[in-house]
Amino acid sequence: MSGQQLIRFDFGDQPLRGAAVRLGPQWRAWAQQLALSEPLTALLGQAAVASVMMASHLKFEGKLNLQVQDCAGISLLLSQVDHRLQQRATLSLVEGASGDADWATLSAGGRLAVIIDADRRDQRYQAVVPTSGQSIAENLADYFDQSEQLPTRFWLAANQQAAAGVMIQQMPAAAERGDPPLDAFETAALLGQTSTAKELLAADPTDMVRRLFGSEGAQVRDARDVTVACRCSRDRIANVILSLGEADIRELLDERGEVEAHCDFCRQRYVYSAHDALALFAADAAEPPSDAVH
Ligand SMILES: [Zn+2]
Repeated sequence: MSGQQLIRFDFGDQPLRGAAVRLGPQWRAWAQQLALSEPLTALLGQAAVASVMMASHLKFEGKLNLQVQDCAGISLLLSQVDHRLQQRATLSLVEGASGDADWATLSAGGRLAVIIDADRRDQRYQAVVPTSGQSIAENLADYFDQSEQLPTRFWLAANQQAAAGVMIQQMPAAAERGDPPLDAFETAALLGQTSTAKELLAADPTDMVRRLFGSEGAQVRDARDVTVACRCSRDRIANVILSLGEADIRELLDERGEVEAHCDFCRQRYVYSAHDALALFAADAAEPPSDAVH
């Protein structure tokens, strides 16, 4: 069993599809680095696996962002996954909000957005719904009902050690024809409901799908590895410093003596000394201007 694996499955002739995922050691390392409370780690992990499963059904190159914001308690919950299934997620609370509160309290009054940041402009997409439900899984089901008219259910679990989930969805073609949710969908939804967090976290995704949906003829179609990792680097931070402009950076250096930046996702700290920061501008100015048309 791989440390981080996503599988997709179908139900033979039924217009239904599904995905299941479990993140192990890389999730553990990520959770350790962010050092959130246990309930917040669980919430972040649930968002992480949900976004990976959502991305698994999309045909695009680019990134999917699952974002919850402007809530009573959550300032920003963001899970981002690209078409290679590289995933990273972060969570920050409104000042004074309790890290032990439940989803309904934390998410009250906010918005849940799904943003497809595709490399191709015509594939970009964004939809927003109000936050809802007793869990992010319920909110996501509402999102698919309201925004995509695509009956969908999620079962999600996460702790400091692992994050795992299962999703089922009516096929888009059946939903477009205006077919009502199928008996098969309702049956699968009831079967999925029998999963427990403990089981999801412990089981291999393939075993989980067989256990839940084997009686309905569920078949695994493919398996892919997921990577939980940040995309930040010293080079990317250098670009941010350049984009701020030399005047602002000189001002900052006068005040602090160095430039310090944190990655919004993994909280990695990057420090540029005055010498290194100014060398970036010197190197940038020395590059011949490019007038090539791209
Ligand atoms: Zn980072």
